[in-house]
Amino acid sequence: MSPVSGVGINYAIQDAVVAANVLSKPLNNRQVQLSDLAKVQRQRELPTRIIQAFQTFIQKRVFAPVLTSNRTFVPPAFLRLPILRDLPARLIALGVFPVHVKT
Ligand SMILES: Cc1cc2nc3c(=O)[nH]c(=O)nc-3n(C[C@H](O)[C@H](O)[C@H](O)COP(=O)(O)OP(=O)(O)OC[C@H]3O[C@@H](n4cnc5c(N)ncnc54)[C@H](O)[C@@H]3O)c2cc1C
Repeated sequence: MSPVSGVGINYAIQDAVVAANVLSKPLNNRQVQLSDLAKVQRQRELPTRIIQAFQTFIQKRVFAPVLTSNRTFVPPAFLRLPILRDLPARLIALGVFPVHVKT
């Protein structure tokens, strides 16, 4: 796992929300099955992999060139377009598929 963009705590909160939504009923009934845990993994795996791919992209396209160059950093063009500039912040903050606690 990459530390790029400090998403670890965001993953943790999203994981906790999905786990609570999926597991609260089986836990209340004291009947948690392996299939319940697999359901949590299914819901979290794709968004996590997408964010990890995004982190790898930023690491290779932004951080690696900056760390190995003496030149002043100029953000890549894609980060200067308003919609693309805001998208990474949204992805990092809310994840690919925002999660909500079911009440
Ligand atoms: C040095 C450092 C700096 C970091 N900086 C940042 C940052 O700036 N921004 C950011 O977003 N993220 C950061 N992270 C990552 C972030 O802290 C983690 O991604 C996040 O805490 C993961 O949360 P979690 O609930 O999934 O797991 P954890 O926080 O690891 O919680 C798991 C808990 O389960 C307990 N546990 C484990 N096994 C058992 C067991 N068998 N029985 C009972 N309890 C058990 C553990 O004791 C622990 O309390 C950093 C991590 C480190 C180490």
